[in-house]
Amino acid sequence: MISRALITMLAAVAATGALLWAGAAGPQKGDGVNGFRWPEGKKGAVSLSFDDARTSQVDNGLALLKTEAVKVTFFVQPEGVQKRLAGWKQAVADGHEIANHSLTHPCTGNYAFSKGNALENYTLPMMARQLDDANEQIHKLLGVKPKTFAYPCGQKFVGRGNEVMSYVPLVAERFLVGRGYLDEAANDPTVCDLAQAMGTAFDDMDFAQIKTIVDEALAQGRWVIFVGHEIGPRAYQTTDTKVLEELCDYLKNPSTQAWVGTVEEIGSYVKKQRAVH
Ligand SMILES: [Zn+2]
Repeated sequence: MISRALITMLAAVAATGALLWAGAAGPQKGDGVNGFRWPEGKKGAVSLSFDDARTSQVDNGLALLKTEAVKVTFFVQPEGVQKRLAGWKQAVADGHEIANHSLTHPCTGNYAFSKGNALENYTLPMMARQLDDANEQIHKLLGVKPKTFAYPCGQKFVGRGNEVMSYVPLVAERFLVGRGYLDEAANDPTVCDLAQAMGTAFDDMDFAQIKTIVDEALAQGRWVIFVGHEIGPRAYQTTDTKVLEELCDYLKNPSTQAWVGTVEEIGSYVKKQRAVH
């Protein structure tokens, strides 16, 4: 007959085993989800990106980012680059990533600004020209070849109804990463499709709101790619300058254990890690 003491002891052993097992299966410090390992014991990764080559990114953003020593990704259209050519050359010199955001920014015609340039009226060859011509012009203007792409308005289709096609394969053929917009989760490095990586909006937010997103992503070993538009005093579609400063300080603090890098840097790392495992 098994004594009560032995049952208690067996239960304790079983509980310890369960705890150990849960520990082994759950995320470990320095490991991300499913054992994915970020470099130097970082818990997760954060990229800051800004779209549309808006002039405030050059006028207000570059000096701030230089002071903070943080490198970001600018997804640009060549037309926007021409408006501040010297500034965009400075962005390249400062080590920021210059990436592709199409030639003329086609989105659904339901957005008033895109009514005459609607994705519903596009074909895949037209979209391929958008990608290739933008790459060529960016190269001519700034001497860099974009490695990553951001879908204008986060939309990934051409055509309408039965004829709708995804243009994600065109992006996958040409770029290391294709980034979305207004997505509701950070990227899980073990499963995310780099051709449609999630993009998290951070315009119009205060620091506490952004910190919550960062902390959640780091706790889950994920990669959050923030997306902003204007940089300046708080207003519509604007990343507040003071909030951006606070965020950079927080991300650079070693105790945050965040890897801050451009979309290309982190995308390359994710791709390599996957090749190894
Ligand atoms: Zn855009």
